[in-house]
Amino acid sequence: MQKKENEYNNGCCDIASDSNCSSTTYGKITLVGTGPGNIKYLTKAAVEAIEECSVIIGYSTYLKQISTMLREDQEKLHFNMKDEITRCEAAINKSMEGERVVIVSGGDAGIYGMSGLLLELLEKKSLIGKIPLDFISGVPAFCSAACSVGAPIMNDFCVISLSNLLTPWEEIEKRLDFASKADFVIIIYNPKSAKRKDELTAAKEILLKNINKTRPAAIVKAASRPDEEIVITTLEHIDEFSLVSMNTTIIIGNSTTFVKDFYMITRRGYGNKYQL
Ligand code: SAH
Repeated sequence: MQKKENEYNNGCCDIASDSNCSSTTYGKITLVGTGPGNIKYLTKAAVEAIEECSVIIGYSTYLKQISTMLREDQEKLHFNMKDEITRCEAAINKSMEGERVVIVSGGDAGIYGMSGLLLELLEKKSLIGKIPLDFISGVPAFCSAACSVGAPIMNDFCVISLSNLLTPWEEIEKRLDFASKADFVIIIYNPKSAKRKDELTAAKEILLKNINKTRPAAIVKAASRPDEEIVITTLEHIDEFSLVSMNTTIIIGNSTTFVKDFYMITRRGYGNKYQL
């Protein structure tokens, strides 16, 4: 099914056929992925959407990361970390006032980000198809972290978040077990927070049942930011470093991954097919 672009007039959508015959001009809501947290890595489309909006909404940390791009005439709505539902509701209300809204979300907004929640809320409120929407991809943290150590994701991979705030821990355990049995490169998000300190060790113990303890692992904190830190280690040690935090991504190689100097390299398979 195609988006009905012709219904959208300069980022607004005039709905005059609601059952109560009221007419509302909805402003467009754009979900913008801001990448790893350094404006150098924003896409051109993200920059344009931010420039064009009249209201910008986001977690304070993400808004601070792009503060130098914002103008005085733009309304900035800062929110705390766990206020995601309120953020979406604020965006919907502003859209109903005809404002052109941007919601920023770190990395890509569609990966553990704000896009899905906004769509779920719009679906509940029967507003899908009424409010014009746009989704602008951002560089996901696992891509930034991978670039910091070379080419660790050259074959099939999976991302597993250790946050059990919205996903039950038993499911996370199951995914770690299956992923390690299937020889994926495994990327771990949300390895630790102020409240969740033991999950990484628990995850490591599950992985060690199926993966050799000497398997290369990269720990990347604040990837692509000026304060980036990197450790290349092995699976058995991933829970021993103080740089592991909410801003850290861990990449555990597959059975073909090796380390040379500062680089972590997963074989794509060229060596089996061609003389390298
Ligand atoms: N939407 C984001 C992911 C949000 S989940 C994306 O597309 O990547 C938040 C997790 O992403 C963090 O706990 C951390 O594991 C990872 N992360 C976000 N920014 C990061 C960065 N600059 N460096 C390393 N990891 C990061």
